[in-house]
Amino acid sequence: MPIDRAQYTRHFSKDQVAAWLCPRCKHGYLKPIRDGFLTVESAENKLAATDEDRRDPIFEEHRFSMLLQCSNDICGEGVVCSGAWGYEYGEMKEEEEEGGYFPAVIAAFIPEYFVPALDIFQIPQGCPPRASDEIRLSFRIYFADPSSAANHVRKAIENLLTAKGIKRFVTEKSGKRKIVSLHDRIVQYRIRDAENADLLMAIKWLGNAGSHDAELTKEDVLDSYELLEVVLDNLYVKHAKKVRQLAKSVNKRKGPMRRL
Ligand SMILES: [Zn+2]
Repeated sequence: MPIDRAQYTRHFSKDQVAAWLCPRCKHGYLKPIRDGFLTVESAENKLAATDEDRRDPIFEEHRFSMLLQCSNDICGEGVVCSGAWGYEYGEMKEEEEEGGYFPAVIAAFIPEYFVPALDIFQIPQGCPPRASDEIRLSFRIYFADPSSAANHVRKAIENLLTAKGIKRFVTEKSGKRKIVSLHDRIVQYRIRDAENADLLMAIKWLGNAGSHDAELTKEDVLDSYELLEVVLDNLYVKHAKKVRQLAKSVNKRKGPMRRL
């Protein structure tokens, strides 16, 4: 299922919090608990308040914590979200007293941590534990540190290839053990599964950019999650394959399937 990217990239306002899916039951949505919203000023901000040049609210930095609860009564999981907030300019508004149009100043909240972490996509049950553990570690730091989140995705696909029997080490003639690069392992895997190998290669390129060139953005990490979700579905859920099989059977019958 495509990831609702806005939920995981945009800031939110206090009266319009994103409808994040409950990480426990995966049915309910997380709703802010009444009086569960706290904010605190940064020390830097207090110093800036005495500085003439920095009195503009747009330079202010604050921190917040927010308590959320799952809307599903049977579950009722409690989640804590914390992060930073500040003011930013919104749409232009007419100010009669001032006589003209001015940008509205709105409070924007940026989550950095959720405890427990959100499941940004659903990991299928059949996924090898060593791969799913890395994906969960990635979810834990996604908001605060996208590049590190991408690094865990890279480890997840290394572990996925190991589970598929693609060797991580080779023994050289000298008897020395040598690590096989992720690139070479994917090339080797392509011999038997070209479709998924291409998706894994794309994830690898995204991860490479994160570890060598520049910081990855949340959008880049969401790209790698989308690719990984399809790989896991192809390998462990096989939904598309099952649907293709269903179409084949219906076409053969030229009508509905007979079910007892
Ligand atoms: Zn729940």
